[in-house]
Amino acid sequence: MVEVGEGRIVSIESDVATPPPAAARLDGLTIPGLANAHSHAFQRALRGRTHAARGDFWSWRDAMYGLAAELDPDRYLALARATYAEMALAGITCVGEFHYLHHAPGGTRYADSNEMGRAMIEAAAEAGIRITLLDACYLHGGIGEEPNEVQRRFSDGAAEAWARRVDELADGPEVRIGAAIHSVRAVDPDSAAAVAEWAGGRPLHAHVSEQPAENEACRAEYGRTPTALLAGADAVDERFTAVHATHLDSGDAAILGGAAATCCLCPTTERDLGDGVGPARELAEAGARLALGSDSHAVIDPFEEARAVELDERLASGQRGRNSATDLLAAATAGGHAALGWTDAGRIERGAIADLVTVGLDSVRLAGADAASAIASLVFAGAAADVRGVIVGGREVVRDGIHVEVDAPLELDSAIAAALG
Ligand SMILES: [Zn+2]
Repeated sequence: MVEVGEGRIVSIESDVATPPPAAARLDGLTIPGLANAHSHAFQRALRGRTHAARGDFWSWRDAMYGLAAELDPDRYLALARATYAEMALAGITCVGEFHYLHHAPGGTRYADSNEMGRAMIEAAAEAGIRITLLDACYLHGGIGEEPNEVQRRFSDGAAEAWARRVDELADGPEVRIGAAIHSVRAVDPDSAAAVAEWAGGRPLHAHVSEQPAENEACRAEYGRTPTALLAGADAVDERFTAVHATHLDSGDAAILGGAAATCCLCPTTERDLGDGVGPARELAEAGARLALGSDSHAVIDPFEEARAVELDERLASGQRGRNSATDLLAAATAGGHAALGWTDAGRIERGAIADLVTVGLDSVRLAGADAASAIASLVFAGAAADVRGVIVGGREVVRDGIHVEVDAPLELDSAIAAALG
């Protein structure tokens, strides 16, 4: 029995013979809240619309830019609210929104230059989940290149201007403000150092080595890998999260692991974009922590994300059992929350934030699981659709598989139609 008070876990007791009359029974397997450590909410509108297209990461990026060009704060709020509601239904209690769509078309500032970021914060509140807004510095269209027409919406022009804007955002009970270096393509080393300094002890994320072309351009210009460049900018330490970390040199894993940084893998997106398979086992052995993100939201299913880390590595390595179900679930819960600055969430223990996700073990996927096999069954065969109940900070957000506030399918329909124009 878990007792909750003021949004936190007050006590945990097992084998309670007669629970108090007010106690709510959670039928099934209850796990800690799941954290989606890497999200670009607006990309949810691309689902099903780019998957069959021929091409690669870069041609997909053109389609994504076409969508980004259409969004304004109202459309973005509606789309993010529905997307975050989909996350809540999948058991996600906290999202890390890697946010770079800051400004109006052409780079014109909105009256409040943080209007788009505030829309993300409002969307998370309305969907009932916590958010870490990872406000991304994005200055260049590529190394040494001016931003193009769409990218001007992302750019503050200089790291100092980025910092002045982000200074106006504030933490709240359900909100943390963090920083992001979009990538070594979009942020030069001096600007990366300025962002890292601004971040202080806050979460600091960056896209790292998602594509071989990014590594080649970085080496050609700076003579080192993106990871080494970011380490040289004093970005890489325990508050740092390298997103993707797919194409690493052997020295990179040592840098990330030695710093006790987090690596956020996004396997369903990395698959969808043909990025490659990141070295999860090698990173963990080097000392890095792991987290998971649904990134472009090709699917939103933390269990699919978790098992993909192991199963994709099996395909690449020819070996089984490189990442245990328990470790994969830890990456999806405590690992992700820590990477987002919520070290007191993602675990069921006294004093932690009361995030509880109950998975029905009576579905056709999970029937037959017993106490010894339940976690492995959930991680390797479960689905977001098996989530029956979600409590975020002591508040019930999903009951019997239905979001209590947001009609997610209906809102996704209308928000995506509006976003696509
Ligand atoms: Zn991303």
